[in-house]
Amino acid sequence: ATPTALMVGTARSAKMGVLIKNGEVLEEVSDLDTVVFDKTGTITVGKPQVTDVVGDKDKVLALAAGLEESSEHPLASAIVKKAEEDKIAPSSISDFKAIEGKGVQANVDKHLAFVGSNRLLDHVAISSDLQAKADQLQSEAKTVVYVGLDNEVIGLIAIQDIPKSSSREAISELKKRGLKTIMLTGDNEKVAQAIADEVGIDQVIAGVLPTEKADHIKALQNEGRKVAFVGDGINDAPALSTADVGIAMGSGTDIAIDSGGIVLVQNDLRCVVRALDISKKTFNRIK
Ligand code: ADP
Ligand code: MG
Repeated sequence: ATPTALMVGTARSAKMGVLIKNGEVLEEVSDLDTVVFDKTGTITVGKPQVTDVVGDKDKVLALAAGLEESSEHPLASAIVKKAEEDKIAPSSISDFKAIEGKGVQANVDKHLAFVGSNRLLDHVAISSDLQAKADQLQSEAKTVVYVGLDNEVIGLIAIQDIPKSSSREAISELKKRGLKTIMLTGDNEKVAQAIADEVGIDQVIAGVLPTEKADHIKALQNEGRKVAFVGDGINDAPALSTADVGIAMGSGTDIAIDSGGIVLVQNDLRCVVRALDISKKTFNRIK
């Protein structure tokens, strides 16, 4: 009876947009106590929009767009699009360099320009006005990137990526099933917490470098937790394979899809709830 029940389970789940790669996943699902989520593109829509530009707007946007034209980060696309909409020509740059999980830098007119998180501000001056403005924007759930020239921050760009309309309901359903929910993100703590509050996530682990995501999953497992990780990006692949159950969004990158034991066809977190329910039911039938 075992293989038949498994096939029925997976055929039914496929109809519901949940692809289960193998039978072992079913067993792991019945032991889960924790679900960890990537933020951008998983909990949020993943299409960030520029909401505020602080400083000499034309100069800040020209500089930032000049650098971000060479980046593939979702924040970069938002900045380039905003410059286009406002008809601001991007600055010419040379020697572009991406600093993973932190931002980008390049030469502009013999000056070193950068755009990115506060992790780039170690030897950089920022006025107390700009810092206060950055804090305020972050508490509004906006991601702030700092735009700098040489050793000084010259402006800020605030970018907002709103939660998917389905995220709140999905998180609430998972919590009803006794699961602890955690957000794991490279974004700033304040922004992450504001978004977590909007969707009801229990705990936030923020400021995580892409290479550290899998380590945080391991640390939770070392505490004795059985962990599912839900993600979509290239940088989510190691966390997806480290987790007891890796759940990849089908809209995500190929490498994420390859690394997940469960793949969701739709880009909707309620499918995570469905995936866990179906796996449990199927497992109970075959065990
Ligand atoms: P996430 O976990 O949300 O996918 P990342 O690890 O990709 O985030 O990036 C973490 C942070 O690094 C971003 O929130 C941003 O502040 C900064 N950053 C990374 N790449 C860029 C970029 N191209 N332009 C500006 N900021 C960037
Ligand atoms: Mg992501």
